[in-house]
Amino acid sequence: MRFLPSVQFIEQSRVADEFVAPAAVLANRLLDAKGLGGLPPCSVSYFIEELHRPGAAIGLHSKGRANVRLNLAWLAKLAQQETAPEWEVAFVILHEYAHFVLELLEAREVSPGATRRRIEAGHADFLRRMSHLGWLADPVSRKLLSNHNAIAEEWYCDAFAYWVAGTLPEPHAEFFYELLAGVRFPPTS
Ligand SMILES: [Zn+2]
Repeated sequence: MRFLPSVQFIEQSRVADEFVAPAAVLANRLLDAKGLGGLPPCSVSYFIEELHRPGAAIGLHSKGRANVRLNLAWLAKLAQQETAPEWEVAFVILHEYAHFVLELLEAREVSPGATRRRIEAGHADFLRRMSHLGWLADPVSRKLLSNHNAIAEEWYCDAFAYWVAGTLPEPHAEFFYELLAGVRFPPTS
């Protein structure tokens, strides 16, 4: 979790829970269907930080735990939309959960730094392919090419969310099956 000097943490918001609970259920259901149901499920709480300044956070994760915190100001803005933002919220939950999964993989690795090196190689491979292929036609690849995703770990987190949802294009989906082979189990449902 990055340091936010002015942030206020809130364990529960009944109004936001009503709005976010279906997205958290969706995120956990998708994780289970991908064979990650044996890991701790996502647990969602909230924080308040001003969103109108550059660099404001939408989601945070707690170190070493599957606790995800969402910015209440962002949720309030989403709630004004006419379409149900279930996937948008689930995407951020899954992105933060991916940071947790990375820590889990790092805690289990035999050679220190191996997981990060694989992610950096996967990121470089993605960028190389995108410079050759007609990526503009694909909205998922386009979002994965954003400035935010210049950092390999953030690219991995966004790509993880798409992979869990089944929308990450090959061959990048294959990268996740290989990366997560050690923590996956057959789906329980
Ligand atoms: Zn992140």
